[in-house]
Amino acid sequence: MKRVEELIDASTDVLDVLVIGGGPAGAACALWTHQLGMKTLLVDAGLRIGGLQRFSPYTNVWMPGLVGRTGQEIATALHSHVVAAGVPHALGSRVTALRRQEALSAWEVLAESRATLARHVVLATGSRPRSAGFVESDRVGIGPGMSMELLEVEGRRVAILGGGDNAFDQAVFALRRGARTVDIHCRGTPRAQPLLQRRFPASNVHIGPIHVDLPRMMVAGRQYDVLGVQFGFDANLPPGIEVPLRDGCIAVDRTGAVPGHPGLYAAGEVTNFWHPCVTTSYGHGIQVAKSIQAALRVTESQS
Ligand SMILES: Cc1cc2nc3c(=O)[nH]c(=O)nc-3n(C[C@H](O)[C@H](O)[C@H](O)COP(=O)(O)OP(=O)(O)OC[C@H]3O[C@@H](n4cnc5c(N)ncnc54)[C@H](O)[C@@H]3O)c2cc1C
Repeated sequence: MKRVEELIDASTDVLDVLVIGGGPAGAACALWTHQLGMKTLLVDAGLRIGGLQRFSPYTNVWMPGLVGRTGQEIATALHSHVVAAGVPHALGSRVTALRRQEALSAWEVLAESRATLARHVVLATGSRPRSAGFVESDRVGIGPGMSMELLEVEGRRVAILGGGDNAFDQAVFALRRGARTVDIHCRGTPRAQPLLQRRFPASNVHIGPIHVDLPRMMVAGRQYDVLGVQFGFDANLPPGIEVPLRDGCIAVDRTGAVPGHPGLYAAGEVTNFWHPCVTTSYGHGIQVAKSIQAALRVTESQS
């Protein structure tokens, strides 16, 4: 697999589109811009396309027309599609800076200390589970998915921290996997959907300050063997760029453009524009691809 600098060095041309992030939003966007004839490069910090779905062993029942596939299978299918369609991509390339080069009407994107120029940049960098200072280990899982599934819970006492959908889901999963006891600790009234709350015994939900003594594995004075930190997600904002934010996510207009930043777009969970899921991320990435195509047409007609 070529790294971003090799791809850039191979051509002195300015790219039409550089997409940062190969999750559902970025991969869908790059598939469309490439197939619509735009000179595209997709970069991702990870070694595989698929974003958060790479870490989901759960069957994804929410994607219309796709039955019985786990998140990891969906990520693999997405990776294969990008490769089969011949979308130029560079994996293992973390973007560390983004600068507007006004004289060139382009963006300079730095990845692995090398630069490339693109007329349009799409930020599709998604979100990451909030760690709240915890570190993953053989007794602490952070966020849903593989981080929790890899924890040994059978016959053990499990504390889940948080009160959202993921907290209640993970509490039920731990019980199903044979945990001796499972408690949920949340600071205030749980925010999880009532449907999910009904699946877990209310007597095991403890509301109040969450004081954790990690060396002794104590939460609010109770002893545990395993902790699951489920405090939601934060937008993965790219470093070194000042963009308008809304509730901690990148603010975009209905075309996916970032106001006040010519040629800069954002799609998927990093925007929180739509409900966060795979299908809306695909849709957002595709909308941005079409918006860029329209912008390129305007530029061509003016030149
Ligand atoms: C355990 C779990 C289960 C889920 N189950 C479902 C489900 O059943 N159905 C459903 O619809 N949704 C589900 N989701 C949500 C779904 O995965 C997300 O909504 C979706 O992945 C968001 O896509 P995205 O492309 O916006 O971001 P992401 O998937 O987060 O992708 C962002 C990508 O950007 C890359 N990146 C970040 N920063 C940089 C950088 N500086 N340089 C280069 N690359 C960078 C990351 O490596 C990542 O690959 C689940 C999520 C989790 C965690």
